[in-house]
Amino acid sequence: MNVLHVASEVAPFSKTGGLGDVLGSLPRALAQQGAARVTVVSARYGSLDPAQFGFARRLRTLQVPLGDQRFEVGLYEGKLPGSGPPVTVYLIDHPLFADRPGIYGPPDRLEQDYSDNPLRFALLSRAALAVAQAFNLRPDVVHAHDWQTGLSLYYARHGGLDFQPATVFTVHNLLFKGLCSLAEATALGVRPEHQNPDGVEFYGQAALIKAGLFFADRVTTVSPNYASEIRTPEYGYGLEGVMQSLGGRLTGILNGADYERWSPWQDPYLVARYGLPPAAESEELLDDATWGASLAGKARCKAELQREVGLPVRPRTPLLATISRLTPQKGIDLIIGLLEREAAGLLGRVDLQYVILGQGDHAFEQRLRMLAERFPSRLAVRLGYDEALSHRTEAGADFFVMPSRFEPCGLNQIYSMRYGTLPIVRAVGGLRDTVVDYDARSRSGTGFAFTAFDVPALSGAVRRALAAYHGDEAAFLGLQRRAMRADFSWNVSARAYLNIYRQAIQDAQAG
Ligand code: ADP
Repeated sequence: MNVLHVASEVAPFSKTGGLGDVLGSLPRALAQQGAARVTVVSARYGSLDPAQFGFARRLRTLQVPLGDQRFEVGLYEGKLPGSGPPVTVYLIDHPLFADRPGIYGPPDRLEQDYSDNPLRFALLSRAALAVAQAFNLRPDVVHAHDWQTGLSLYYARHGGLDFQPATVFTVHNLLFKGLCSLAEATALGVRPEHQNPDGVEFYGQAALIKAGLFFADRVTTVSPNYASEIRTPEYGYGLEGVMQSLGGRLTGILNGADYERWSPWQDPYLVARYGLPPAAESEELLDDATWGASLAGKARCKAELQREVGLPVRPRTPLLATISRLTPQKGIDLIIGLLEREAAGLLGRVDLQYVILGQGDHAFEQRLRMLAERFPSRLAVRLGYDEALSHRTEAGADFFVMPSRFEPCGLNQIYSMRYGTLPIVRAVGGLRDTVVDYDARSRSGTGFAFTAFDVPALSGAVRRALAAYHGDEAAFLGLQRRAMRADFSWNVSARAYLNIYRQAIQDAQAG
């Protein structure tokens, strides 16, 4: 089976969040299953140096038709890093990408989009098919991700190609719809007969995500729970009707974690490695003392993190962390609320430290900065994007706080568990599918979950986490061990995607 992925982010070449991580690992996992030859097409952004990742410039350029226009694009060819069968990556080179420092907007203004994003990503969507044509890839399946590449599925069906692939669309975040005017949609080649509610039209505008939703044979989203939630007004953001109409064509498949990059026993960013790689046959023989000893490196990582972010080095002070886009989706207002309102209680009286790494809305950044100035020995805030520090934070912290308003899947809670950093999450979307609430009596669970989206609920979960930290040591070690052993590797999910591809091919053949 030939599978062509089209996406606006592919880690480690480009990434603003989970989408990039998924495109960096799912294609490899698919190739490893041995059932598919996988190719990825994305864009060469200005911030990306193709040579650094071993990409070679192709001499040929491609002519890409888009509505009445034609664009000439260059190409870089490279490979996804990692083990297993190779996955070829093509990066589209055009000034619309290469002359911009950011992926979606100015790098220091996450909430601001480039106004011509619909054009930029329509070009990527159409160019991906031109690549398939030029290199005779003959994809059986074109798999597009989020609104940016939704149009590729429309073009695959109505773009006059000499091949007819089956199509799959994955929703990584329904909040971003790719809105533009209907006139713009026309300029991007969307025919008038597809500019209605059963096409791209959305309340008088065009929502390019609908090109993906309506013209895909199969639609997936990144967790089973989110697949149910987006059929409701609370989480559907106006598209719940569309989601309901998809019926059985919409499936939730949990994202996997790339444990080659996210495991504390082989993480090159850490001062000390810790934990033990899972070895099923010897797992029962592993006594608590051996397991406990294997965590010694985590204590060094904690001390190093405290030093790095300028907090007092205190081994027995619980260290909380958040790594996140600083946006309302991520419940940053709850975290700030917790820190501000409970300042006297949490930051003032309770012995606790908190590290926050993130960037995003300026108001959130401002409030966090002020809080950090008020509580310099308790709260360290790093504004910006820092891959290395994100790994060291996962390793050094005791708890990872993720109180999302909605969460399609979420990866950081999954990474956290592998690092023995217990997640404190709101039970929503993929967080509910991945974190099992701790029950002290039955000694079960992998983290701490709360339900209501408010500060008291978050505060309650934090207090339960702190009680567990200061309580029975063996119980806490068991909790950490269950979290570290929870397995969210890609194998199972990759097989689920292969099934969806087979169904999509059948659907496409059935016409
Ligand atoms: P989302 O895709 O909604 O942003 P996820 O939890 O699915 O959330 O994925 C977030 C990814 O982005 C994780 O790999 C996380 O470590 C990373 N990340 C987010 N913000 C930063 C940051 N400021 N520095 C480094 N990595 C970050």
